[in-house]
Amino acid sequence: MFIPQRIKADFPIFKNQPQLIYLDSAASSFKPQPVLDKLNEYYTNYSVNIFRGIYKLSEKATAEYEGTRVKVAQFIGARRSEEVIFTRNTTESINLVMYAWGMPTVKKGDEIITTIMEHHANFVTWQQLCKITGARLKIVKLRTDYTLDIDDLLSKITPRTKLVAFTHVSNVLGTINPVKALIKQIKTKNPQCLILIDGAQAIPHLPVNVDELGADFYAFSSHKMLGPTGVGVLWGRYELLDKMSPFQYGGEMIRAVYKDRSEFQPSPHKFEAGTPDIAGVIGLGAAIDYLTHLGMDAVRAHEQEIVAYGLEQLAKVKSLQLIGPTDPKIRGGVLTFTIDKIHAHDIAQILDSNNICIRSGHHCAMPLHIELGLVSTARASVHVFTTKRDIDALVSALHKVVKTFA
Ligand code: PMP
Repeated sequence: MFIPQRIKADFPIFKNQPQLIYLDSAASSFKPQPVLDKLNEYYTNYSVNIFRGIYKLSEKATAEYEGTRVKVAQFIGARRSEEVIFTRNTTESINLVMYAWGMPTVKKGDEIITTIMEHHANFVTWQQLCKITGARLKIVKLRTDYTLDIDDLLSKITPRTKLVAFTHVSNVLGTINPVKALIKQIKTKNPQCLILIDGAQAIPHLPVNVDELGADFYAFSSHKMLGPTGVGVLWGRYELLDKMSPFQYGGEMIRAVYKDRSEFQPSPHKFEAGTPDIAGVIGLGAAIDYLTHLGMDAVRAHEQEIVAYGLEQLAKVKSLQLIGPTDPKIRGGVLTFTIDKIHAHDIAQILDSNNICIRSGHHCAMPLHIELGLVSTARASVHVFTTKRDIDALVSALHKVVKTFA
């Protein structure tokens, strides 16, 4: 059974700071003991480079690194592990697509579609590509219930649409987009356009099968899914990756180099130039084992229960406005709100003095905040270790915040 209090015991940070209430997992999650043990195991027992050595230690490190690629592929339902590319984070995964696919492909007059609910990583990147190439950026609107305006999205697709890039789960609104159905509708209108999904807030919390979704690219980060920082993943359909040129040039990605030309490795190594974050990747493997052991259906069910409880309890705080869909079935693990006349930074600061960590600001989603007429919002986000008692502590501290400013 899924018992968050017991799960909390797996996270050593709570042993050292038992009073801590951590509600900022959407920014970065804590890491459980098995992930720390795995990092320690690598650094203690076989901290050498991969691919290069013909000695046992290097073979062990390579096997662990490549073993994680297979684990990631299984975890996200990829057909082949060669479709899994290790990057530094979601941002770099999206930039990889921009540089290796977008720059050589997108031309003046082409169209890229993104949405107003995107994180800057999936917005600025396409804005820049359009600036450089002369392509046109189209931005899909929201409906009043904070879901994506699907009619608006479909009306924006034309024969010149080259890419539709949107998030699986919004890091501000929590909206879970109906990705599979949307992809089907988009591809019916224009079978040639590619679809990139930002899965940074989905992979850590929901069961995801990229193959069933029908996307072309899917990006996410290790550090939000209980894994180490410094590692991200780009999944792409092999036929596409095979045709794309490398992202960066140098060691590891090369098959042969001559004075006048070079031959590159096939995917995924063609996209992984230089020494990667070997420890981080191996640690990500342990995070995937941990999540798999809990079961992603159970992880999502827990999150939905906590979010439903949070929405109910936060609604009782005077002058508090919840932002995002009210139905927990279409809402991921973020509880975003504003309180009349109190700046989100003041809320976060007072909560911090009560050992409660939340995030305040625009959460790297400035276009969304401008669209909603907000300067900043406060965001509490949950993960596998979050309990209803954490939510109670948040709500009781917020009552105090309101009284202080009254
Ligand atoms: N997309 C979304 C939806 C996010 O929430 C984040 C992290 N806040 C990112 C992209 C960027 O992730 P990273 O900083 O790991 O590249």
